[in-house]
Amino acid sequence: MRQVMVAGNWKMNGSSESVKELIAGIKDGMASVTKAEVVVCPPAVYIPRVSGVADGSAIKVGSQNICDEDKGAFTGEISADMLKDIGCEYAIVGHSERRALYGESDELVAKRFAAARRNGIKPIFCIGETLEERESGVTNDVCSRQIDAVIALEGVEALTDGVIAYEPVWAIGTGKVATPEQAQDVHAFIRGKIAALNADVAEGLRILYGGSMNAGNAKDLIGQTDIDGGLIGGASLKAEDFLAICQAAE
Ligand code: PEP
Repeated sequence: MRQVMVAGNWKMNGSSESVKELIAGIKDGMASVTKAEVVVCPPAVYIPRVSGVADGSAIKVGSQNICDEDKGAFTGEISADMLKDIGCEYAIVGHSERRALYGESDELVAKRFAAARRNGIKPIFCIGETLEERESGVTNDVCSRQIDAVIALEGVEALTDGVIAYEPVWAIGTGKVATPEQAQDVHAFIRGKIAALNADVAEGLRILYGGSMNAGNAKDLIGQTDIDGGLIGGASLKAEDFLAICQAAE
């Protein structure tokens, strides 16, 4: 039985004061969240502060990226050890904004995935197609290619330690959510692809949906057979909205 998961990607938002308020608000509402695993991914500089407030609750903390190398001359990067040191259990890798705006290739994303894993951090591995790719009918090919980069480097068993987030790029931050059927189709394809290599890995793998998920649409999306939760951007920035999604996931 896969535990449902709701993860918040706060992106580059917030201040010392506002993140404290946000995490305190989520912590206050956690009594009503008994089944879902709840993760928040704040901007890196605020992770220690957020971990401090989350301490003693069931909320887990993740980073929005992770260096593919473990140590040394990699200016601007943050290593897995450093992230663990400040309380991270998870790291987002391959978010479409990193791929599109910072040129992260499938291969680099796979190396980041590997670095997380070898250092005991669970990757939240983002994949998904652009609008143009969807309209050209290559959604499954794109997702397949992105997953294959990780499998080529780490083997299919590596996915046991991670979570896949299917995030159609056209649905991220646009308010254009995939229909439950559209999302389920891709999730089923992903699980089927992995099952063809290892049925146990596929059965245990959590596949989250991300892209304009909110309190109103979360239940229908997460209610689909192969959707095991959500990766939430905009709606994770208000405690009330994020908690409503966590409750819908229950
Ligand atoms: C995201 O950036 O991972 C995301 C899903 O954003 P939003 O919920 O705002 O579409």
